[in-house]
Amino acid sequence: MVGLGVAGMAAAIALSGAGWKPVIVERAPQRRTGGYFVGLFPPGKKAAARLGVLERMHLRTPPDHRTWAVDASGDRRRSIGFLDQPGHPEGTMRGDVEAALWNGLASHAEVRFGVSPTAIAQDETGAHVAFSDGGAESFDLVIGADGLRSTVRRLAFGPDERYLRPTNSVICTYALTGQVPGFSGSDQIALVEPGRALWVFPYRDRPPTALFAYRVDDVGLELRKKPADALAARYGGMGGPVPYALAALRDAPECLFDSVQQVRMRRWHRGRVLLLGDAAWCLTLYSGMGASTGMMGAAALGDALTAQPLDLTAALRDWERRMRPTIRAHQLIAHVKGEGFVPSNPFNHGVRHLVVSQAAKLLIRKPAISLS
Ligand SMILES: Cc1cc2nc3c(=O)[nH]c(=O)nc-3n(C[C@H](O)[C@H](O)[C@H](O)COP(=O)(O)OP(=O)(O)OC[C@H]3O[C@@H](n4cnc5c(N)ncnc54)[C@H](O)[C@@H]3O)c2cc1C
Repeated sequence: MVGLGVAGMAAAIALSGAGWKPVIVERAPQRRTGGYFVGLFPPGKKAAARLGVLERMHLRTPPDHRTWAVDASGDRRRSIGFLDQPGHPEGTMRGDVEAALWNGLASHAEVRFGVSPTAIAQDETGAHVAFSDGGAESFDLVIGADGLRSTVRRLAFGPDERYLRPTNSVICTYALTGQVPGFSGSDQIALVEPGRALWVFPYRDRPPTALFAYRVDDVGLELRKKPADALAARYGGMGGPVPYALAALRDAPECLFDSVQQVRMRRWHRGRVLLLGDAAWCLTLYSGMGASTGMMGAAALGDALTAQPLDLTAALRDWERRMRPTIRAHQLIAHVKGEGFVPSNPFNHGVRHLVVSQAAKLLIRKPAISLS
C-alpha cells in the first residue's frame, strides 16, 4: 500500500480482513492531522461501518445548522447548501476520517514513514518495488493510494498528463479561528457569484472552515502566486464574510491552495499494481464523495479478494467491474455539482440561483406560529 490517507488505510483494514498482511509506506515523516471540511454521505458511512470505523468517527454537523446565502454587500437570506443535500452528509474534517481509520488499523498493518516508491517492476512471482531509502522488496499486490498526483500511477501507468482532467478552478481552504462575526456558530454561509465563491462550513464543536473556490483561465499561473495574494486579487473589495475570511488566512496554521482536477483512467489495475481513491478516480471536492468512494472501493476490494482468494486476476477484474459504474456516475455528477459550488459563468449562476431558491422555498421549514 502506498499512501496513509483515507484510501490507503481503508484498504489496509479491508485487506487485513481478507487475510492479507498489509504494509503501508507513506512519504510524509508522520501521520497528518487536520485538513479541511469533508462531508460524509450515507454510502461513505455504510462503507466506514463495514470497515468497523464508523463508531470511531468524529461527526460534527451542528444539529441546528442553518444556511445563509450572502452577497458581496453582506445582505443575506435563508437558503440551502452542501449540508442540506439529499442524504444529509455528515460534516467532519478529513483528519477525523483518517483518525478513525488509523485507530481501526491498530496492529493490522505495518506502517513505514518517510518512504516512497521509486520503481515498480512485475512478473509472475510478484511486484518488485524499489524505495527512496535504498530498500527493495517484493509484494503480491501493490496498491497506489497516493492521491491525485500518484507516484504509483506514474511508475506503473504513465505520466499525469495522460490521466488528469483540469476543471479550470482553484481552491483555497483553511480553518477559521471563529465564526464570521454576525453569524451563529452553526451557520453555513454561501457567497456564490459567477466565477468565484466563498463557503463557510460550520461544526458543532470547533470553529468553521473556509473554502474559496474560483475559476481561472491559467491554473498554473494562479498557483505560482502566494495564496493570500491570489485571493486578495480575486476577492478584494468584496464585503460580507470575505474580509474576515481573508484576514483569517494570515493566522491559519495550514491552508490547501490547489487546482481542482479529475483523474480519468480506462483501467485501475495492471497485473499486480492497483490504484485506489484519488490516485485512481479523483472525483474533485465538488462531488463530495472522494472520501466515501475511497472507503467504498477499499471495502469492495476486501470483498473481491475474499471471494476469489486463489485468483488475484479475477478478483481485481471483478472489483473494477463492480466499482466502475458508481465512479463514472459520480465523475459526471461532479461537473454539475461544481456549477453549484462555483458557477463558471453568469448563465449557470442564474440557473443555480433559480434552482436553489426554489428548493429552499420547499425545504426551509417556517417557524411554527404559536396562537396562545
Ligand atoms: C477541499 C476539499 C474538500 C473535500 N470535500 C470532500 C467531501 O465533502 N466529501 C468527500 O467524501 N470527499 C471530499 N474531498 C475529497 C477527499 O478529501 C479525498 O477524495 C480523499 O481524502 C482522498 O484520499 P486518498 O487516500 O485517495 O488520497 P490522499 O488524501 O491524497 O492521500 C494520499 C496519501 O499518500 C501519500 N503519498 C503521496 N505520494 C506518496 C508517495 N510518493 N509515496 C508515499 N506516500 C505518498 C500522501 O502523503 C497522503 O498521505 C475533498 C477534497 C478537498 C481537497
